[in-house]
Amino acid sequence: MRVAIKTLLVVGLVVAAILWLAGLGGTVDVRMGEWFIGISLPAAIVALILLFGTVHGFLRIVSWLRGWPARRRQKREARNRAEADRSLTRALVALAAGRAEQARIEVDRARALAGDTPHLLLLSAEAARARGDEEGATDAFEKLAGREDSRFLGLRGLLRQAEARGDWSEARRIAAEAHKAEPNAEWLKTARAAAALRERDWGEALALSGPEAPRAALSLAAAEQAEDPLKAAELERQAFMADPAFSPAVVAHARRLVDTGSPRRGRAVLREGWAAAPHPDIGAAYVAEEPDATTRIKLVDELTRDTTNHPESRLLRAQVALQAGLTGRARQDLQAWMETGAADRRCYDLLVQVERADLGDEAAREKEPELLRLAADAPAAPTWRCRRCGAEHNRWKPLCQACDTAGEIGWSGEAVRPSEARAG
Ligand SMILES: [Zn+2]
Repeated sequence: MRVAIKTLLVVGLVVAAILWLAGLGGTVDVRMGEWFIGISLPAAIVALILLFGTVHGFLRIVSWLRGWPARRRQKREARNRAEADRSLTRALVALAAGRAEQARIEVDRARALAGDTPHLLLLSAEAARARGDEEGATDAFEKLAGREDSRFLGLRGLLRQAEARGDWSEARRIAAEAHKAEPNAEWLKTARAAAALRERDWGEALALSGPEAPRAALSLAAAEQAEDPLKAAELERQAFMADPAFSPAVVAHARRLVDTGSPRRGRAVLREGWAAAPHPDIGAAYVAEEPDATTRIKLVDELTRDTTNHPESRLLRAQVALQAGLTGRARQDLQAWMETGAADRRCYDLLVQVERADLGDEAAREKEPELLRLAADAPAAPTWRCRRCGAEHNRWKPLCQACDTAGEIGWSGEAVRPSEARAG
C-alpha cells in the first residue's frame, strides 16, 4: 500500500515537472566563435539531466569494475574463514577424543586457511603437547608470546613447559615476565615462589609467599644467605617474630643481639622462645656465655621457672646440676621425668653419667645394664627430621638434601607443648 502511494507521488511529481518544463518558455544561446546554437530552455534542461545521468552511470560502472578484485578476495576470505572454523571444530573434537595426530592435521589446515590467529596458535600448541611434540608446542607458544594481544597466553604455556622439564631458572624468568603482563594473577605469584624455592632463593620465595607459607623458616634461610649483616639481623628478627616457637630463629636472633652488644635482650629473646617451645639449643645458648657452674644453675632455674615440669626443663636442670657436681639435684629431676613414663633415652643416658659421678666408674658399671636396658626401651631422643622422607639431620636446615624438599625439616619433639607439660 505504502509502495503504491510512493509510486503515485513520484509519478505525480515527474508529470508536474514535465508540465512545468513544457510551460517554460525561452531559449538558451550558446556562442563559440562563429558558431551559434539556440535551443529551447526545456530541451536544454532535459539534455543536462540526461548528461548527468550518463556520466553518473559511467562512473558507477568504473568504480564497480575497480572494486571487483577486492570483492573477490573478501569472498574468498569469508569462505576460508568458514572452512577454518569447521577445521577448528574438528580439531577440538579430535583433541577431546585423544586423536592428537588428527587434531594436528585439522589445526594445520585451519592455520593455512585463516593464518596464525591466537586461538589457532593456542590449539596448535595444545595439539602438539597432546602428541608429545614439545618443540612444536614451544614454537606455537613463542609465536603467541610474540603477539601483543596474546602475549600472556604464550608466556603461560612456556612457563608450564619450563616447570614440567624442571628448568626452574627459566620458569622464574618467564613467570616474572608474565607477572609484569598480568600483575593481578595470584597464581603467578605462587608459581614464582615455587620456582624461587626450587632455585634455593629463600629471599625471593619469602617475598612472594603468602601468609600460609612457613615464614619463620624462610626468613631464617634468607638470613643465612644474606651477605649484609644488617639485612641478616633484620631477617632473623622477622623469623623470630613470625614464630617464637621456632628454636633456630630464637637462637639466631638472640646470638645476633649478644654479638651486637645487647646480651640482656638476647637472654630475653631466649626466655621468650623457651616459653613458647622449650628446646635444647635454646637451653645451651642460655648458658653458653657463663663459665661458672653455679651461676649456670641459677640461669637455668630462671629460664625454666614457668616450664618446671617440661621434659626439656628437667633435662637441662639435670645437665647443669651434674656439671656443678650436684648429683642429688640431677637425679631428682631425672627420676621425676622417669616417673611420668615419658622419659626418652637422654634421661637414662644422663642417669648413667650421674651414677658414674656418684659411685665411680667401677661401681656404676653394676647398675649400667639395667639403665641401658631401660634406655633401649625408651623413646628415641627428639631430633631434626624431614617430614617428607623421615631423614634425620644434626641441625635445622632449610632444605632436606635426602629428598630435595624445602621447608620440611622439623623438630620431632615439637608435639609436646609447654602447656601440656605444665598441666602434667
Ligand atoms: Zn627429606
